[in-house]
Amino acid sequence: MKIGYLTFGRDDFGYGLALCLDRIKDHEIYRVSPKTAKYVDVLLFSCFWWEHIYLLADFLRKAGIKKSDSDRPRIIVGGFNTFNPVPFQAYADTVVCGDGEEILESVLNGEDPGLIWRNVSQVHSLPLPGHNTTRIELARGCRFKCKFCSVAHLKPYREVSIDEIKKCLDQVKTKKVTLFAPDPTLYSKNEELNKYCHEIGLTRNDTDVRFTSLDKYNGSSLPHIGLEGFSERQRKLVGKQISNELFTTKMIEVIQHGVMKGVLFYVILDLPGEKEDDFLELREALIKIGKTPGAEKFTMIFSPNMFMPMPHTGMEMYGINYEKNYKDIWIKFFGRGKERDWAFLMAEKTRIFKPGSRILSMLSVRGGEEFIQIQTELSAKKIINISGDRLSCRSEKELIRVLQKYGGSERYCGPRFPEDDNPWKRLIFNGERSRTRESL
Ligand code: SF4
Repeated sequence: MKIGYLTFGRDDFGYGLALCLDRIKDHEIYRVSPKTAKYVDVLLFSCFWWEHIYLLADFLRKAGIKKSDSDRPRIIVGGFNTFNPVPFQAYADTVVCGDGEEILESVLNGEDPGLIWRNVSQVHSLPLPGHNTTRIELARGCRFKCKFCSVAHLKPYREVSIDEIKKCLDQVKTKKVTLFAPDPTLYSKNEELNKYCHEIGLTRNDTDVRFTSLDKYNGSSLPHIGLEGFSERQRKLVGKQISNELFTTKMIEVIQHGVMKGVLFYVILDLPGEKEDDFLELREALIKIGKTPGAEKFTMIFSPNMFMPMPHTGMEMYGINYEKNYKDIWIKFFGRGKERDWAFLMAEKTRIFKPGSRILSMLSVRGGEEFIQIQTELSAKKIINISGDRLSCRSEKELIRVLQKYGGSERYCGPRFPEDDNPWKRLIFNGERSRTRESL
């Protein structure tokens, strides 16, 4: 069987697909482009971020492949973005929600068409070499249950055995290794892994760590921490127990210790009930932290993300305020460059979405069968544009006008209620496997 595959976006989000390809390596496997996609028997796509459903639609259009064609490759889609699988059904024969590696062979053999969910695969790892580091999965799912987080709500925590990780480490050719999990320091035999990496001359390059595990972090890069809320109140709302006092004293301690050069914090803008006081609380904490001797040698990078109420999570019912101008709000509270009132270097890794992109993101995660019609119209009228791997909205007004026919932008961006016909609710979880209600 000839199998074509593609991961949309950055390749380092293709780990899941790499695991799948490893399980079917006896077949002929090719990375496809729109020019070559027609010439394989099966197409496997990995859609990780919300934009990827638009990229998938664009790819198939360029490849000249329609689901209604009688002579075309079978299309299988998986990846993190498929937790609302309904809009994907218009493009794919099978949407795999959750861990795909154990079921892929049977899906390829056509044994299990339709929508499939397997949430408790045994996790096996694979060393995946990148530019200067090799990625190895330590654990899947999360021990915690932050209210906004899909990982917590959809993936039970499972660890790869230490013996298997050691075998993977033995095959690593790069000097650095990234052992990944939501928080690798919480892997039950993390200390043993530290020692083993040291013994075989590998430097750990893990980045993610929880704020409360910062003391255990020994990666060679800046630690990446999900602070999420600007204030203690917001952090409590999403289930992160980091008080303002803990945040301030810990950061002062880290700077005084002088070993860590900086940190990167993920924060979420537009959390429900957001107030000016939330930004002011962080600002005051930064001023206090910034007076610590040694702060001038320290860097704090903030990576703000927009709140996206994800299907199946404890926050799926909330709406968003897509019209808020967060570029200005950020500057109002945190200033820019040398105007800032703290000694440490502050940088932003901005990916603040404009209103049009925020509406498109909600359409992707909350859309139903109508998604394909909307996407086709937006594309034909050139309201959306795809350049490289980037999706942009050319006119927010035109986008809203198109959505009026489908219930308006409120249908996708407003609050949801239990009685609403939320498409993702058709995916019913049933232990090992679930299907959409209509395919049962
Ligand atoms: S946000 Fe991080 S710590 Fe919280 S549940 Fe998700 S993966 Fe776990």
